[in-house]
Amino acid sequence: MLIVMKFGGSSVANPEKVRRVAGIIADAYSEGHQLVVVLSAQGDTTDELLEQAALYSRNPSRRELDMLLTTGEQISVALMALTLGDMGLPAVSLAAWQIGFQTTTTHGNARIKRIGTERLERELDAGRIVLVAGFQGVDKYDDITTLGRGGSDTSAVALAAVLHADKCQIYTDVDGIYTADPRKVTGARKLEEVTFDEMMELATVGAQVLHNRSVEMAKRYGVPLEVLSSYERKPGTIVKEVVNRVEEMNVTGIAKDTDIARITVEHLPDVPGKVFQVLNVVSREKINVDLILQSMGRDGTNDLSFTVKKSDAPLAVEKLREQAERIGFSKVSVEDKLARISAVGAGMVSTPGVATKLFDALAAAEINVKMISSSEMMISVLIDEQYADLAVQRVHDRFFGA
Ligand code: ADP
Ligand code: ASP
Ligand code: MG
Repeated sequence: MLIVMKFGGSSVANPEKVRRVAGIIADAYSEGHQLVVVLSAQGDTTDELLEQAALYSRNPSRRELDMLLTTGEQISVALMALTLGDMGLPAVSLAAWQIGFQTTTTHGNARIKRIGTERLERELDAGRIVLVAGFQGVDKYDDITTLGRGGSDTSAVALAAVLHADKCQIYTDVDGIYTADPRKVTGARKLEEVTFDEMMELATVGAQVLHNRSVEMAKRYGVPLEVLSSYERKPGTIVKEVVNRVEEMNVTGIAKDTDIARITVEHLPDVPGKVFQVLNVVSREKINVDLILQSMGRDGTNDLSFTVKKSDAPLAVEKLREQAERIGFSKVSVEDKLARISAVGAGMVSTPGVATKLFDALAAAEINVKMISSSEMMISVLIDEQYADLAVQRVHDRFFGA
C-alpha cells in the first residue's frame, strides 16, 4: 500500500516524541508499505517564529513571513530523516520546491495548483521513506509560500490525491475527532466516522483538528482520511463521504472560534449600494467576511456589522477609514474579545428545534447573543469571548447529555 501519513507539531515536539513517531513509521515500513510522511514544525515553533518576526517589524511582509515560517517544517523533516537514518532506515527529507509543490502567490494563504510526482515516485521506487515539509509551497516566481495555519493537513491530503495513495492518515495529539474539543469539553464523545461535509463545516467554524481545506480536498479527490493518535496505537476517526450511524445524530459537533473580530460601520446611508461599497473595500484586500448584520435605521441610516479574522481587522479598518467620507458613514469601530460558537450536523435541517435548544442552553447560562447565522448544516452565535468555554460546555451538555 502507498500511505501518506502526517504528524502534527506536538507529535514531533522533542527528540523523544520524534523517536516515538519514527517507531510508527518504521513499523509501517517493515509491513512493506510505501510511505510519504508529512511533518509540521515542532511544538510551538510557528508561533514562536511569528513572535520573532514581531520583534523586527510592526507590519511584517507576508512574503518574508513565509520564508521565515517554512524553516520550522524543514527542521522537522531533517531531524526525522536523521532519526530514521540512525535506525538504519532509508529516508530522505524534501522541501516543497524540491518536489514542485506549486501554489498561487497569495503569501500566508496560498492555494495548491499542481504537485509534481516525478521526484516523489523516484524516491519511493528506490525504497526510501519520503519526508515532506508540510504547510509550504512554491509559487510561479519560485518564491516560498504557505498554505495558512494548520495547512500541513492540506499538504498531506494533496499529496495523497496526486499519488493516488491508498489512504491518508493524520496523526495528532488526540485519538480522533470528537463531538467537541476533548481537551476542553467534559463528556465529549469520540466519533467512529464523520462525513466530509460535516467535518468541513466543523473545521471551518473552529474545530482545528483538521484544516478545513484538507477536508474539502479529500472530498473532491475521494481520499480516505483517518485522524488518529500519535501516542496510542488504536483506531481513530474515519472521514468519508457517507457514514453508517447506529444512532441518528441531529448534531455532530460543537465548535468554538475565537479568532474573530467584529467591525461596525455606523450611520451608513440607507440607500441601495452602500453595503456593497463597504464590503467591497474589505474584499479588495482579499479579506474574508463572515457573519454580517445590518441593524435598521435611525434617521435614514443603518449600522453594518461584520466579522473577519482578528489578524485582518487592522487592515480592514484602515482601508474603511480611508473611504469613510466617499461612502458616507461616520465611524468604524472594532471589537475583538468575541467568540463564535457553532453547532454542526447534517441532520439539523430536517430536525425542528435544534436552534431552540441552543438558545435555551445559552439563556440558562445567562449568555448574551450578539449575532446569529445559520445554514443547512450549522447554526452559529457570536458571544463575548469570556463566556466561550462555558457556552461550548453548556451547549454540548444540552445536545449530548451532561
Ligand atoms: P496538530 O498539531 O497535530 O495538527 P492541532 O492542534 O492542529 O494538532 O489539532 C489537534 C487539536 O484539535 C486537539 O489537541 C484538540 O484539542 C483540538 N480539537 C478541537 N476540536 C476538536 C474535535 N472536535 N475533536 C478532536 N480534537 C479537537
Ligand atoms: N506549522 C504550521 C502551523 O502551525 C502548519 C501546521 O502545523 O499544520 O500552522
Ligand atoms: Mg493542525
